[in-house]
Amino acid sequence: MKNQYFLGLKCIKCGKIYGPDSDLLLCPECNNLLDPQYDYERLKKDWNTLGISERPNDIWKFRELLPVIDFDQIVTLGEGGAPFLKCPEFAKELGIAEFYILNDASQPTGSLKDRSIAITATKAREFGYQVLSCDSTGNKAASTAGYAARAGMQSIVFCPEETPKQKLEQALFYGANLVRVAGHYSQVNAFYREMVASRRYHWYDCGTDNPFRYEGKKTYGYEIAVNLGLKAPDYLLQPAAGGMSIVKAWKGFKEFQAIGLINHLPKLVACQAENCGPIADAFSAGMDSVPGIDKGPTIASAIAVSNPGLLGDEALHAVRGSGGCGIKVSDEELLRVWERLGRAGIFCEPSSAISVASAYKMAESHKLKPTDVLVAVVTGSGFKDGITLSSNVEIPAAVVNGKEEFYSKLEEIQARISAH
Ligand SMILES: [Zn+2]
Repeated sequence: MKNQYFLGLKCIKCGKIYGPDSDLLLCPECNNLLDPQYDYERLKKDWNTLGISERPNDIWKFRELLPVIDFDQIVTLGEGGAPFLKCPEFAKELGIAEFYILNDASQPTGSLKDRSIAITATKAREFGYQVLSCDSTGNKAASTAGYAARAGMQSIVFCPEETPKQKLEQALFYGANLVRVAGHYSQVNAFYREMVASRRYHWYDCGTDNPFRYEGKKTYGYEIAVNLGLKAPDYLLQPAAGGMSIVKAWKGFKEFQAIGLINHLPKLVACQAENCGPIADAFSAGMDSVPGIDKGPTIASAIAVSNPGLLGDEALHAVRGSGGCGIKVSDEELLRVWERLGRAGIFCEPSSAISVASAYKMAESHKLKPTDVLVAVVTGSGFKDGITLSSNVEIPAAVVNGKEEFYSKLEEIQARISAH
């Protein structure tokens, strides 16, 4: 079945339009980002006849708004449809009306990347590629490898040496060809971009400025609006690496507005680490673009992108255009909130707790009102960063042996619970 609503790609700088079947990354004329276009007028007319509410709860529920030509080519592991958790205890602590967590730790490969890579894998199949490639701080590599496996393709992934072991092991388990590169992510990214631009290999790029990949993140906007009963929250808090989650969640809300489904937009919050927050820094400094920075050490490795380039500029403009802000969080603050999430039943990697930690920083600096409704996106599973996990919990050395020790241990635990 063909998608009649996807119209093609438009360059955000020179405005040139390319057809829906164009296999492009950046604009061939001016090397800028390409933005997929849709027939919103027609969608507005047809929306209630599409049977959307009867479809499975994944990103393809909104498939007419995704840049796919042929729905029969879709590659899926069931991505999207994340748990949307009302957290009244957090709302109380923050002094606001409602607080929700959209938990993308539940995605098929354990992170938000699946929303995007499902689309690039589908495009690779439409365009006839056999190999997927990407550079990554780890989650995108695992996702690319997982979706390549699902599509019956090969994968090649490039990661910095500091990438958490679990993410590399996961990618390898799916059958990836792994290239580890010395240095931080910015070094890997520089090599990788040069390789992609050279067109030396016929691999489908799922890593750089692929215009289709980014569209997967729009589904945040759709999902959140649907979960809130076709409304936008007052603030949407997103962990910001390159910044594209923010730009595209914003596009998703704007599209729902264009179709007539919601009537206001959220304020966007770019949540970054104290030692690597180029978008938040540029916002605070009132700048118009995001310069690269020298990053310091941070446990938020999954979002530590020191030079977000064109995407960072787009994110900065979206944050400012929405009336939102950039927030930076120290490792200490981040670990505290990460542990707090664990006690609330949410098992995520520390990087992705930064959205919730940013809500606390906003409350501390009196940025929130008692009537506010906030949604924080949590982006990756706790299994993704075993090193930080192991250094924050301790498995008891003692093993009970025999019935006497068994009941003695239980008495000790019961006393501890009673004293609490
Ligand atoms: Zn252009």
